[in-house]
Amino acid sequence: MVHNAENISENDEIPAVIKGLRMTRQRREVYKTLMADRVHPTAQDVFVVVKDRLPQISLATVYNCLEALTQHGIIKQVHFDREPCRYCPNLHDHGHFHDQKSGRIVDVTFKPGVCLGDFLEIPEGAVINHVELTLRGSIH
Ligand SMILES: [Zn+2]
Repeated sequence: MVHNAENISENDEIPAVIKGLRMTRQRREVYKTLMADRVHPTAQDVFVVVKDRLPQISLATVYNCLEALTQHGIIKQVHFDREPCRYCPNLHDHGHFHDQKSGRIVDVTFKPGVCLGDFLEIPEGAVINHVELTLRGSIH
């Protein structure tokens, strides 16, 4: 069976291979961390969590795992201003809400049937192939 990252949910057992990438114990723990708590952690944040389960892992290894997962299209890098890069396992088009009170970043999805052209003046003939939408505020 071929596994696409899109059809793996956080409760599923992580397959041995995803999109051609062999899921070593370290990659698996890094990926699980991203799937379990969708707060868009930095590499350092991931390192702190994974180190609990794999005490011998180094920050450099966590970076390597994140790099491999990104290169295989299993996760995405997310950039906010000049902050350190964050990581997101949601591969569908979505935006991000940055809660400036807690620092959490949560996914914002499009409501079914709504397209960007419904509320944005998009240039005539423009074809959108990538969406980057960042909302800032606080969640009460
Ligand atoms: Zn995201």
